[in-house]
Amino acid sequence: MVGHGNRWGGRIGLVLIAGLLALAGCSSVQEDGYDPGPGRAPVDAPGPERTRTNLRFANTLFVCSGMTVSNGPRVELSGKVADFTAITTIEGVKLAINPAPGACLSSGYGTRDGRLHKGLDYWAALGTPILAAGNGTVVEMTYRADYGNMIVIDHGRGIYTRYAHLSAFGDGVEPGEPVRAGDVIGQMGNTSDRAIPVHLHYEILSGDYRTPKGSFGLTPVDPFGLGS
Ligand SMILES: [Zn+2]
Repeated sequence: MVGHGNRWGGRIGLVLIAGLLALAGCSSVQEDGYDPGPGRAPVDAPGPERTRTNLRFANTLFVCSGMTVSNGPRVELSGKVADFTAITTIEGVKLAINPAPGACLSSGYGTRDGRLHKGLDYWAALGTPILAAGNGTVVEMTYRADYGNMIVIDHGRGIYTRYAHLSAFGDGVEPGEPVRAGDVIGQMGNTSDRAIPVHLHYEILSGDYRTPKGSFGLTPVDPFGLGS
């Protein structure tokens, strides 16, 4: 179980980063770049302390240079994704399209090698922070042979997000606990029983979770097919 072995090293890394931020005196007022909407002031969620960052969900996204993005969105000559917005809305739930700020898009949603690729792939350096795409509750935090270390967040209204191949889980992130948009929930990695490149596999899912299949009974959604 390589994934679990990596998990603790990553946690130590996050603790070090949090400590450095505290020493720098910049831990008091931090933004996650997410507008919670009218009447929903950004307050500290109850539960364990999680790593906050000043990372923002970026309003620009580039496809990875040198990588062929199948089923990708429309891209400008510069490699910039056209008409990209940081936040999309599904069933009234606001979600980030790229939960790994700074990462580039390495694969799109749709048919790939004759199978449905149920999410988006993002590439950045090993250990890049992965943020909760929206407010919600962690419902799965586990290792699977195919998805490696993965987290599923329930955002309410039948909307879920999944984050796979993480090298580590974020501090204070536990099943059943709330997370807020922008919380660090893990780090980018390549955990899986197969040899795969470092990347984040990110899914937006909808449907009824209370079936025997759980999150794997949900319907994947094309994040670029949603409104903004
Ligand atoms: Zn993928």
